[in-house]
Amino acid sequence: MTHHDPTAGDDRGPAPSHRRDPAPVALVTGASRGIGRAIAAGLARAGHDVGLTARSAGQLCETARMVEAVGRRAVIAAGDVTNPDEVEAVCRTVERELGPLRVLVNNAGIAGPVMPFVETDPAEWWRVLETNVHGPALFLRFVLPGMLARRRGYVINLNSMQASRVMGAPIAYGVSKAALMRLTDALSEEVLDKGVVVFDVSPGLVRTRMTEGRPDLDALPADEWSPPEAAANLVVSLVSGRHDGLHGRLVKVNDDLDAVLAESQRDADVRVLRVKRPTQAR
Ligand code: NDP
Repeated sequence: MTHHDPTAGDDRGPAPSHRRDPAPVALVTGASRGIGRAIAAGLARAGHDVGLTARSAGQLCETARMVEAVGRRAVIAAGDVTNPDEVEAVCRTVERELGPLRVLVNNAGIAGPVMPFVETDPAEWWRVLETNVHGPALFLRFVLPGMLARRRGYVINLNSMQASRVMGAPIAYGVSKAALMRLTDALSEEVLDKGVVVFDVSPGLVRTRMTEGRPDLDALPADEWSPPEAAANLVVSLVSGRHDGLHGRLVKVNDDLDAVLAESQRDADVRVLRVKRPTQAR
């Protein structure tokens, strides 16, 4: 679903020095609803052309309309984030239609069944890790080489406070987000001096299909919830380049990024993940 190719030649067009630079290109996974849809729309409002992927092509069309409503181009490439061939095809389609990726948002994720661990189907348990860890790793494997060659790029992984705290979600979900956090942290170190900046984002508690029908969450007061647009605003801020010093960190939706950046510059150790010592354990 593209309307225009910025790389196409046009003899009657203005001289190259007067041509506008092509828009930066972003790819958002899990863009068919919820937080991913809000991030895609937010990046479009901030001037990005956006590649959209998820399994539900029909719902991606609605997100594409939101991107196009603000004058940006959208490309739909449906696929399952756990399937390497489909992930490669998604990345190729988006880059062919829109141009080289500047931003990758690994947002697609599932919570898995809410039940005690001992009752969990092992295949469903593993599916959570495949979706939330292997999926982002596959996108990185196909997108990073180009970003590294261009020495330019942002990767945003949607994470959760469940990565570092036990907060009542399905255990597989916490395990997957903890693994994703380490992927972000370690990868950030590997690619930072090559021009690629990697962040984890915690969007807060957001009313989406993932959180609906959970009596434990429904009981929480209104001020515990964040709108999906807040996560979108955070992503837009992070890809602006003003907070690259927070690379590798998990940034929370209500963080004052300037204050967190100043703190991390005062105390480099603030970025280190710690395990509680036995004396601190409850
Ligand atoms: P939703 O269930 O509303 O959306 C999940 C998105 O992921 C959908 O677009 C879905 O599309 C896509 N998706 C799921 N599995 C696959 C797959 N195998 N292949 C491709 N796409 C897939 O969830 P949210 O918007 O709430 O969650 C988005 C992210 O934010 C997740 O990573 C989640 O862990 C994180 N998060 C959410 C919080 C919340 O409170 N909602 C809190 C903290 C983190 P489709 O089904 O069409 O494939």
